Amino acid sequence: MTPDQLRALVRTIPDHPKPGIMFRDVTTLLLDPEGLAAAADALAATVTDKPDLIAAIDARGFIVGTALALRLGCGLLLVRKDGKLPGETIAEDYALEYGTDRLAMHVDACTPGARVLITDDLLATGGTALAAARLIRRAGGLVTGARFFIDLPDLGGGAKLRAEGIEPISLMD
Ligand code: 5GP
Repeated sequence: MTPDQLRALVRTIPDHPKPGIMFRDVTTLLLDPEGLAAAADALAATVTDKPDLIAAIDARGFIVGTALALRLGCGLLLVRKDGKLPGETIAEDYALEYGTDRLAMHVDACTPGARVLITDDLLATGGTALAAARLIRRAGGLVTGARFFIDLPDLGGGAKLRAEGIEPISLMD
């Protein structure tokens, strides 16, 4: 499947979740068996240096992260919205357009020195992925990069991740 064919499987929903936002909807890509497999294969092919863990961000990142973890033979580290995980957690706040949100992970999910690749469906401002990176680093993990189905380059997330030493790779802009 070509990048253009993959791109065509992503639906754009205008004015979601609020007026003026063009929401890139990956549920249509997930519905397509060939598209889903092609996206997972293409993203896995960008990982040349196998990490110990794939960190997957709540909630659509769980899909991307699980696909990558199974293809690469890595464990899966869940980075969840705060209040969802049953064990002892550490948490990080991050900015939304209005207000803040909080991500959490189990304090013992990542052993010091573990090499961790961050995954999510989409990179926009980078706030979400950077909060995940802070959690992993607080636990002593080494962030080896980040992978997304989609990057919205106008929102600057890629530059912010690179400034923190994290190389992002995406399948489409
Ligand atoms: P950021 O923190 O980089 O600004 O936003 C990225 C996060 O918001 C990701 O977890 C992603 O799932 C979600 N997100 C923001 N905009 C969109 C969008 O247009 N489509 C999808 N699928 N997710 C989005």
